[in-house]
Amino acid sequence: MNLKPRFLLLTGLLVVASATAAWYASRQLAENIVAQWAIRYAEKQVLYDKSRLLQPIVREIALSRQFANSQEIRAWARNPADPESARRAFAEMENYRLNFSDHSYFVALLDSGRYYHNNANNEFAGKQYRYTLSPKKPEDRWFYDIVRQQRDLHINVNPDINLGVTKLWIDVLVRDGNAILGVAGTGLDLTEFIHAVVDQTQPGMTSLFVDHNGAIQAHRDQRLIDFASISKTAQERKTLDLLFERQKDRDAIYAAMKELESVKIPVISRFVEVKGRRHLAGVAYLPEIDWYEITLLDLDVLVPLSSFSGILLVYGLTLLAALALFNLVLSRQVLLPLKNLELAMREAEQGHHSEPFPPAHGQGEIARLIEHFQRMARAQWEARRDLESKVQERTEALDRLAKTDPLTELLNRRGMSERIAAEISRSRREHSHIGLLLLDIDRFKEINDQHGHGQGDAALKAVAGLIHAMLRPYDSVARWGGDEFLVLTQASDAHDLNTLGERIRAAIADSGHIEDADGATVRLSISVGGHFANSGEDLESMLQRADKALYTAKDAGRNCYRLYNGDI
Ligand code: GH3
Ligand code: MG
Repeated sequence: MNLKPRFLLLTGLLVVASATAAWYASRQLAENIVAQWAIRYAEKQVLYDKSRLLQPIVREIALSRQFANSQEIRAWARNPADPESARRAFAEMENYRLNFSDHSYFVALLDSGRYYHNNANNEFAGKQYRYTLSPKKPEDRWFYDIVRQQRDLHINVNPDINLGVTKLWIDVLVRDGNAILGVAGTGLDLTEFIHAVVDQTQPGMTSLFVDHNGAIQAHRDQRLIDFASISKTAQERKTLDLLFERQKDRDAIYAAMKELESVKIPVISRFVEVKGRRHLAGVAYLPEIDWYEITLLDLDVLVPLSSFSGILLVYGLTLLAALALFNLVLSRQVLLPLKNLELAMREAEQGHHSEPFPPAHGQGEIARLIEHFQRMARAQWEARRDLESKVQERTEALDRLAKTDPLTELLNRRGMSERIAAEISRSRREHSHIGLLLLDIDRFKEINDQHGHGQGDAALKAVAGLIHAMLRPYDSVARWGGDEFLVLTQASDAHDLNTLGERIRAAIADSGHIEDADGATVRLSISVGGHFANSGEDLESMLQRADKALYTAKDAGRNCYRLYNGDI
């Protein structure tokens, strides 16, 4: 894998890892803050509820106690048949009715089971006796239970089916010494109670009251209220178990309730789960009525973690920007210079560079690496250039050597053959003529024989130099073999050729000489055969014809020129 995708993958993984870590860290932090805040909030709320709501209940309890202890009521309860006692008792009841905040009262007598009641509308004035309680009727069981349990004060939520009201009943035993005469008290409209206490509409917050058994006495959801708790068995009760699905949550709340009774702290907070959501439960004890208030705070609603998503979004965007910047810098500073370097190396490897590659961007180590490479590539390129030019020089020299006669330094047979071949091609293209002169030193053998081979060589050189001097730049001359020379000329007609042949012959005859060992001059001459070839003639035929012309010249006595005329 290339560096770029590797770095992208690596940085991507780093982003995901750090974003995940940041998410968990900020979540943890948020939850801790929420928990701290919620504990205080729950404590404040519970204490506030307690003081706000207990006031009227406490007042009603105090008033109910006075009511049940009233001399007139007790006197009448002892002797209900006495009209005077009854009159006074009813007057007392009316007095209390006006004072009770619900403006209602009840008095139930144990002996007769007679139940007296008047309400806020004063509906039953003069007919306060409403009906007779019976231990056999289930709806009257509360009364007999209270008497049996001998609890001086009992607070209960009880729907009174006969009266069509649901009330928080404050029941106080009417005693005569140790003897129980009946139960008296008042009721508080539960609807109002619930509205004031538990029906708080703050989202995410639920308040409820439970008795010392954990039976739910007041809750926003009426279905959860354990009406007539006192008359139920443990199995029948609607308790905290309905709220908390997890046993450990129930145990925690019951333990907190127990702790509150003995310890002097106002509120205990516990984290619990309600309907699968994390809640903070604040539990407070209300000893006046032997109830507990539980305030449940839904942490997700009160401080939703989504409110932290802004931070995460900013964090994520910052990370992405950092990633993009990192990749940009990486590309510019490392990857691009490396890519250029790689390209340049490949070029250098294939020998394409005429000049070391252009400077690549980069800093620090990369720049130094590129500099090293540049120096190396330049040195290599220069060495190669020198080598190539040397090879070229040598090749050219060899080529020259291969086509040159070492003695006369004229073209040799091979070099001349190439020129003639090229000239034949040209003449075929342009339909031009080729002029050839074949020259041979006369009686050369004799020079060799009489003056030695060295003088022979000198004669060859002298003749070569003279011929060469006679020619135009575009004519060529070669030592064709032995004492034979061949001139290739671009003659436009046979006459030109004849002139040139004759001029060369004359020049040699005039000034061609060597000096022998004694300093005596040995004159030289040549015979020349010319052939003015037409376009399309091949090399073989041309040479044969020039040779024939030379033979003719020799035959004619030497030191003369002859043109091939086809007759010979
Ligand atoms: P002719 O006039 O008929 O040409 O008579 P010639 O003596 O010149 O006879 P020919 O051209 O046949 O002789 C060529 C001689 O050239 C033969 C050979 O010994 C001599 N020769 C060939 N190459 C060299 C060389 O490189 N140096 C010397 N000194 N002599 C050479
Ligand atoms: Mg000869």
